[in-house]
Formats: sequence, structure tokens, C-alpha cells
Amino acid sequence: MILDIKKIQTDFPILKKEIYGKPLIYLDNAATTQKPRSVVEKIEYGYYNVNANIHRGVHFLSQAATEAHEEARRYVQQFLNARSSNEIIFTRGTTEAINLIASSFTDECMSAGDEVILSVMEHHSNIVPWQIQAAKKGIVLKVIPINDWGELCLDEYRSLFTERTRLVSVTHMSNVLGTINPVKEMIEEAHAHDVPVLIDGAQSVPHMKVDVQELDAEFYVFSGHKIYGPTGIGVLYGKEEWLDRLPPYQGGGEMIATVSFEKTTFNELPFKFEAGTPDYIGSTALAEALRYVDGIGIDNIAAYEHRLLAYATERLNEIDNMRIFGQAADKGAVISFLVGDIHHYDLGMLLDRLGIAVRTGHHCAQLLMQRLGIEGTVRASFSFYNTEEEIDQLAAAIERLKGMF
Ligand code: PMP
Repeated sequence: MILDIKKIQTDFPILKKEIYGKPLIYLDNAATTQKPRSVVEKIEYGYYNVNANIHRGVHFLSQAATEAHEEARRYVQQFLNARSSNEIIFTRGTTEAINLIASSFTDECMSAGDEVILSVMEHHSNIVPWQIQAAKKGIVLKVIPINDWGELCLDEYRSLFTERTRLVSVTHMSNVLGTINPVKEMIEEAHAHDVPVLIDGAQSVPHMKVDVQELDAEFYVFSGHKIYGPTGIGVLYGKEEWLDRLPPYQGGGEMIATVSFEKTTFNELPFKFEAGTPDYIGSTALAEALRYVDGIGIDNIAAYEHRLLAYATERLNEIDNMRIFGQAADKGAVISFLVGDIHHYDLGMLLDRLGIAVRTGHHCAQLLMQRLGIEGTVRASFSFYNTEEEIDQLAAAIERLKGMF
């Protein structure tokens, strides 16, 4: 299917903005995506029409808000193809979801000396929560290395398993290299050792079909704001038997069944993990974002973005002294690069003056930067609302700016 990008762009009012008098070219989609009008309207609709605290009220509005929140949960369930809506926990985002698992899983399933396998390409969100647990509980982190193309070394991965391995926690797609990891194969390997797996889907869910039953990971997490939804809402998918087994992460209202000073009993799933008033407006807006993505079709999005990536790679490679980090055979629409010895920050700042938004720095992946032997990169990351013309302008701008150094 050929996407009508010009029409799609009109759904995103911010894309019409001018920055320093230049039309905005937004190439920072791996950090966060822009929002279609329908998502913002859903938020407004929620506050103006169905706003009341959920799950506690007998009155009309409270019941309507509860139903909207639970309907959103069912939409997420269907989007990920989870078995049950009990397996969908709303969190503040990927980071909170990983912290939840790091805390609850470590409490329930790990003791000093037990091991978690991570990879060198993880975002800090999938490193630091484990380091906190390592400092508290003496668990040990094992790290899968990458090859020079930016792909995980699977032989090394296999050799990291020991009888102390309790969990594998890896990203589906790197936010720096774009590498799409062979997570299905990695999950099978972990299961062969009876080890459960957590997949960080922050970068993958917006760009490819994710079917949690097919992947068979025990836990899968993502953020709403990276898939055209609002900030402050995200999802933890967990297999029901695992979520049942893990202790709550936070205590408060909603997550209890009964409370007395002698003993509190916890609510059933999914409420056990949603302490306090949930973001019931955010959840419905997230479902609206997923509906928007479904309207275009995730496979159409994947195919279009794949073409954009190929085109951008070709165009950027025409520039002298261009170094692209991440040449994996399976790669999503992210390009990290450096040009000659121009500092990434300088290039990013000058591109900004031309209306081109890219990200610079270590991208919350300092371990990876150390492995690559650099301090940071410039990163252009694409969405279905980007075009080849915008990539031409990025390439032309880099050529022009190069001349200034
Ligand atoms: N993991 C990856 C791979 C990411 O790219 C990001 C966001 N850059 C995160 C985790 C953290 O997501 P959030 O800040 O939305 O919690």
C-alpha cells in the first residue's frame, strides 16, 4: 500500500511549525513522536466528558471513566495480542515498567549471586534498575557484547548462561544503532535454560508488529509517547502466571483487596500493580494512538520506514568522512553518525538552526558509547510522517555545514 504522507502530515499540527523561520523537519522520533490530532482530542474529550476517579465510584461519570480505562486496556491487549487484559499493566512508561520488574522479580526470584543477562546496547533504563538491585541484593549482571556491525554476539550470549541465571533483559531494537535483535531466537534459548525474559520494546513497538504470544517473552514493555500517544503512560505486558507470582511494586489505593493494620491483602490482576489513581485519561489517549497506528497499518508503517532508512543510509553515505554506527542486517529507522571530526553537539546545534531536529549525545547508552570508543553521535530517527525530501534536506544541510568547519 502506498501511504499518502502529505495527508498523514496534516494529522500532526506541529509538523506545520517553523523553527527559526524554516519549516520543521522532525527527525527525533526515537526520543519521542509527535501526536496526531485524534490523540490530543481524546485527551480533551476525556477531561471535558468522562472525568471522574475510576474504580471507586457508583456514579455515572466514574463508571464511564472506569469503562474507558478498561476498554483502553483491552485495546492494548489486542494490539499486542496478549491472552488476557489482566496481562496489561499501565505504567508511566518503559522506565517504570522495567523498574517494576527489576524490583518485584528480584524480591521474589533472586538472591545474592544470582545473575541477570543484559546487553551492551541497552538504554540506561534497562541497566540502572538492575544496578540498583545489584547494589541492594548482590545480584550479578552479565553483558552480551556486540560485533562491529552492531549486532549482538549470539554465541557469547549462549555462553553466558549458568545455573545462577535467573532472567534475560534485552532490548528489541537499539535506540542508537537501530539494530533489531533476534529476540525470538534469544527467548527460545533462555527458555531452554528455564530462564524467563523481559524485552524492552520502547523502540520496536512503534515500528513493527509485535505479537507477545508469538514471541513468548514473559515480560514486554513500551512507552506511549514513542508511539504517538501521550507522555506519562506506558505498558507492562506480563504473562499472567508471572504477574500473579510477583509481589506488588508500590503500595496504595487501587492495589489492595482489604486493609487492616494486621494484614493487607492485595487486589487481583491487573490492579495489584496499579497503585494510586491511574492515568485513566492517558490510557484512553494511548489506545487512541494505537488505533491511529492500526488505521495506517503497522506493516505499512514498517515497509515505508524501511524504505526511508535505506534511502537515508544511501544519501548520508555519499557524504565524505561520514561514519554510520550500526550496520546490522536487520535494522530499524534510526541512523547514528559522525562526520569527520565535527563534534556531534556542534552539528546538531547547527542543524537545529536550519529547522532540522536531530538528537546528539550518548542517547542514554554510555556503555555502548564506550564500546564504540566515542562520546556521542548525531542521531536521525524516522517516522511514517517523514519523507525522502526531508532526508535530501538533511544531507544537503550536512554538506553545507561541513564546509563551515
Ligand atoms: N529503552 C529504550 C530502548 C529507549 O529508547 C528508551 C527511550 N529513549 C527507554 C527505554 C526509556 O523510555 P521512557 O523514557 O519512555 O521510559
